[in-house]
Amino acid sequence: GRTFFVGGNWKCNGTSEEIKKIVATLNAGQVPSQDVVEVVVSPPFVFLPLVKSELRSDFHVAAQNCWVKNGGAFTGEVSANMLVNLSIPWVILGHSERRAILGESNEFVGDKVAYALSQGLKVIACVGETLEQRESGSTMAVVAAQTKAIADRVKDWSNVVIAYEPVWAIGTGKVATPAQAQEVHAELRKWLQANVSAEVAASTRIIYGGSVSGANCKELAGQPDVDGFLVGGASLKPEFIDIIKAAE
Ligand code: 13P
Repeated sequence: GRTFFVGGNWKCNGTSEEIKKIVATLNAGQVPSQDVVEVVVSPPFVFLPLVKSELRSDFHVAAQNCWVKNGGAFTGEVSANMLVNLSIPWVILGHSERRAILGESNEFVGDKVAYALSQGLKVIACVGETLEQRESGSTMAVVAAQTKAIADRVKDWSNVVIAYEPVWAIGTGKVATPAQAQEVHAELRKWLQANVSAEVAASTRIIYGGSVSGANCKELAGQPDVDGFLVGGASLKPEFIDIIKAAE
């Protein structure tokens, strides 16, 4: 089976004082064991060592991005190898904010995923359509093209989690309905079956992100192809513990 996965994407938020408080709250939370739910939180780069040293050992950390290849003369970038060097196990790649605001293309994200995996990182790879794309009926074409750019470059999917994050649901309070999420997750799984393999389709976690809250997580988690969440705003709050518990 696919172990339920809950990621907390803290985005560009927090002071060291605030981060310590969030970690203390997480450390005190009563949650199911690691064989029931895998929990990964993603602070900004500068706080990764702090969070890694203070966070409970059954939760893991992720970077929010990394450079597309080996380090060198790339001012302002952080390489996959540096994350490996600090024993950071996970990285989020292809978040819609980076695609839209920083101009990351499908191919660039695919290259990043392949390189990060090759260096030993586990990857949360994000895909998702804008409202305009959904309204024009191209949701699945968009998500398939984003996934194809990864599939073209990746052979071993065992360290990949796909996060389906419809852009219109991110930070808007407009969560996808359980049926809307399930529809895309099922289509994505079918895409993997047809274009990668039945084995990869059956074993790859496909998690949902976009306005997930303590109030809506249980119903979403009940969908057969929703294998967990990538949580933004609510991951900065004690509510994140309730979202982890949706695994039960
Ligand atoms: P919100 O949960 O704040 O909508 O953010 C979702 C997200 O982008 C997680 O990566």
